[in-house]
Amino acid sequence: MTGMSGYLRTLFLHPPSFEGFDGGAGSRYQARREVRSFWYPTWLAQPAALVPGSRLIDAPPADLSLGDVVPLARDYDLAVLHTSAPSFAHDVKVAEALREANPKIRVGFVGAHVAVARETALEASPAIEFVTGNEFDFTIQEIAQGRPIDRVTGVSYRTNGHVHRTPERAPLEDMDRLPYVVDVYKRDLDVERYFIGYLLHPYLSLYTGRGCRSKCTFCLWPQTVGGQRYRTRSVDNVVAEIERATRLFPQVKEYFFDDDTFTDDLPRAEAIARGLGRLGVTWSCNAKADVPYATLKILKDNGLRLLLVGYESGSQAILNNVKKGIRLDRAREFTRHAKALGITIHGTFVMGLPGETRETIEATIKFALEIDPHTIQVSLAAPYPGTALYREAQARGWLETESLVDAGGVQTSVLGYPHLGRTEIFASLEQFYRRFYFRPRKIFAIGAEMLRDRAVLRRRLGEGADFLRFLARRRRERH
Ligand code: SF4
Repeated sequence: MTGMSGYLRTLFLHPPSFEGFDGGAGSRYQARREVRSFWYPTWLAQPAALVPGSRLIDAPPADLSLGDVVPLARDYDLAVLHTSAPSFAHDVKVAEALREANPKIRVGFVGAHVAVARETALEASPAIEFVTGNEFDFTIQEIAQGRPIDRVTGVSYRTNGHVHRTPERAPLEDMDRLPYVVDVYKRDLDVERYFIGYLLHPYLSLYTGRGCRSKCTFCLWPQTVGGQRYRTRSVDNVVAEIERATRLFPQVKEYFFDDDTFTDDLPRAEAIARGLGRLGVTWSCNAKADVPYATLKILKDNGLRLLLVGYESGSQAILNNVKKGIRLDRAREFTRHAKALGITIHGTFVMGLPGETRETIEATIKFALEIDPHTIQVSLAAPYPGTALYREAQARGWLETESLVDAGGVQTSVLGYPHLGRTEIFASLEQFYRRFYFRPRKIFAIGAEMLRDRAVLRRRLGEGADFLRFLARRRRERH
């Protein structure tokens, strides 16, 4: 059956799993966070924008449970579920429940986790009819148009108990063929429900391109769905989408470009910045710690507020081990420049990467205290299937468990080394946070920010409570 549009009635679903789970349709490292936070489900919004009459449901931020979602199966012919390594087992149960409610509904899984092991994913349950390869927007559009699945490229599927694979789909080169996501956000999402602690609220995020030129061994998207070239939308196309967003969402205070590394193409980043400057919007983006001063100045002069910077480690040897392509002295200089220009920095770090020792943990904490980003996020090394880090960990026997999150969806420590067990790595994360945040200088800076703005005060107090609960919970479940 097709809807009035001639397309299958299609439901795009980021399924319910763990409470407060920030999942893979928009989040690189899927877990329940220290403070309740959600990225937009952009990877689902893109194909949703290509299928007229579809609906996108992002269950975790909407607080929707399995019981809320399952009855919807009766209204649809096709359900496209975005899955991730930590949530896959949950997502399979959702697929089965949808099929039970409507035995005619077709169910497909998308996302990096299934793209790297398509046939294994199909074997998980007969409820999954198909899974897609790396870039799945037009794959899904063609299936939703009712095209026979054996004539759709980039898909593995099951018929009569047999699994088949169609030829690979070529990567999308003309990125302007992707329609705007902001119209789908407007139709199906409630922007007020999307929080990221270090972004203004409400914020809105989208991608202006896919892929990253760096080859960091732990980083999932460039090794799977995005690729290791930065394929980009044109400057005019990006600026026009933001202009449209300002009309659709007058309440949005900040736009975030969640491209892997928005600063991979400096002249283009500068050109987009100038366009945004003309619109007068506040915006932020991901960056590597190597953007030259002249570019930073242009970005700042045109509305840039914050850079999210993956420093990862204060040990040059570890940065080299994971092929980060950054020198610590360059990162120091970049940080000085950004701060001098008044750009806020959210720095991210990873504990437990190959080469980690007690000394490198100490060096990383000291490095973070020295460069002093405004806020930080510390993660545990997460070897995702499909990454070079996963293959290395498998070959070297570092995988002490395969489970990336605990029963509550909080990140666990997976890698352990003969000289440094995963329990110690797990504990280092709390030590890092405490030493960074529980300093008079930091407490004073955050207090001053709260006093300036009552909305920030309310949010920060809530986040502070969340954060302390998170630390307490980790201590209870330490393993
Ligand atoms: S620079 Fe950032 S986005 Fe690019 S591969 Fe490395 S970690 Fe991933």
